[in-house]
Amino acid sequence: MTGSGLVVRDLSVGYGPVRALRRVSLEVPEGAVVTVLGGNGAGKTTLLRAISRTLSFHGGTVTGGDVQLAGRRLDRLPPDRVVAAGVSQVPEGRRVFARMTVADNLRAGALGGNRRNRGESLARVHGLFPVLAERAHQRAGLLSGGEQQMLAVARALMAGPRVLLLDEPSLGLAPLMAQRIADTIREINAQGTSVLLIEQNAALALRLATHAYVLEVGEVTLSGPAADLAASDEVRRRYLGVVDEDAAADAEQATGPTLARWEG
Ligand code: ATP
Repeated sequence: MTGSGLVVRDLSVGYGPVRALRRVSLEVPEGAVVTVLGGNGAGKTTLLRAISRTLSFHGGTVTGGDVQLAGRRLDRLPPDRVVAAGVSQVPEGRRVFARMTVADNLRAGALGGNRRNRGESLARVHGLFPVLAERAHQRAGLLSGGEQQMLAVARALMAGPRVLLLDEPSLGLAPLMAQRIADTIREINAQGTSVLLIEQNAALALRLATHAYVLEVGEVTLSGPAADLAASDEVRRRYLGVVDEDAAADAEQATGPTLARWEG
């Protein structure tokens, strides 16, 4: 795999004796939205940590493979240089600096990026999230959960990334707020930033993405255009919660109608 986007090749990661990723390969072509689906513990967060080079903060090590952006190796750089190279991560759990103001959170996000473009980046994030301009001098910890997620995304955008890594941006948000975040991801992408999206909300992720990968116990088991994965029986059953009607009918024949059992 080569290309101008983000390329992960044969990446293996361990936390001590725990093997969290085994020879994972994927690509985020320039301008694309790519999603990685997978259940709890599949290795999704580990994948983002390995790309952003924050793995060592969590006791993990890359044991094989490499990561490149536009042909440049990222996997030997310290985390701040990965940001400077064009990859910013929004960590799971929207970790904003709660005691700092909204404006200072955004300033902190700009530290790794290009100094000359800071004003432009601020105008961009205020355009995407007007509420952050209104609350500029408020402490970040006082924002609602959805607003904190907006701030976490905005902070990552302040460095002017070419690729944005998003870890579960809809987690814990009400459906309307999750939809707003999804709309914003689409807008960020339309403005030219590629996105690697980790989501448990597979329906939302597959609507946003052009390509998708399924990660199971540290290995890629399926990949392809998002529309193809959304139509696949396995993805529908395991990640979209769609019941296989034939199997349900067979089970009902074997055990009798569910309602009758409860009413009996
Ligand atoms: P979830 O959706 O539950 O967040 P995930 O797909 O993001 O899961 P990871 O958090 O990447 O999965 O975990 C992958 C594997 O690595 C799991 O077996 C997990 O227990 C293990 N793991 C993750 N972080 C650590 C750590 N800091 N130390 C040891 N093992 C870890």
